[in-house]
Amino acid sequence: MGVRGSNTTELVLEDVMIPEENLLGDSEKGFHQFLETLDGGRISIGALAVGIAQAAYERALNYSKERKQFGEQIGKFQSIQFKLADMAMQIELARTMVHKAAWLKDEKKPFKKEAAFAKLYASEMATKVCNDAIQIHGGSGYMREFEVERMLRDTKLMEIGEGTSEIQRMVISREIGCPM
Ligand SMILES: Cc1cc2nc3c(=O)[nH]c(=O)nc-3n(C[C@H](O)[C@H](O)[C@H](O)COP(=O)(O)OP(=O)(O)OC[C@H]3O[C@@H](n4cnc5c(N)ncnc54)[C@H](O)[C@@H]3O)c2cc1C
Repeated sequence: MGVRGSNTTELVLEDVMIPEENLLGDSEKGFHQFLETLDGGRISIGALAVGIAQAAYERALNYSKERKQFGEQIGKFQSIQFKLADMAMQIELARTMVHKAAWLKDEKKPFKKEAAFAKLYASEMATKVCNDAIQIHGGSGYMREFEVERMLRDTKLMEIGEGTSEIQRMVISREIGCPM
């Protein structure tokens, strides 16, 4: 569907022997290390989502100044302005959440909940922003030329990879102390 710059394929490992000197981390703590890596990766996915959303928003803002309908720039229509205002606000919020999670990680403080917040919010926000960017472009947005359709295809993966949105909600529920 998207992210075509990255080759995705099945990888099967069967009876693989790894020399001891090639071992990464502690062989007794594999699952723990894997979970820790995922927490950090979620901040990166949040950052990717913010970047894609920012690009889609900038395209939409520019197009709203160029495209004229009924003798006016479409950016003068309040329905377009409100979409752009929401996009700008939600991108700013997601970026701040990503920065906070990254800062906590850099400071070696707990960041599991904040990484899940950032990943979940940024990825769902980016899908909405890209979808709205297509809407602002009208029919042109559905075409390849303006690239916003690619951004929607690319960003959808941010809601799936490194733990789906449903899994992020499970992580957050645990972190805020919901009974399990
Ligand atoms: C383009 C691409 C690149 C990828 N790159 C990588 C990579 O580099 N490294 C890597 O490790 N993986 C990679 N993946 C895999 C990706 O991480 C998984 O697809 C993702 O974690 C979801 O797992 P799944 O596909 O098995 O979905 P499933 O786990 O089968 O989920 C299916 C649905 O069920 C829901 N679900 C599953 N379990 C629960 C539950 N307990 N409670 C509630 N709902 C649940 C999910 O949220 C989802 O909606 C990639 C995938 C794609 C498409």
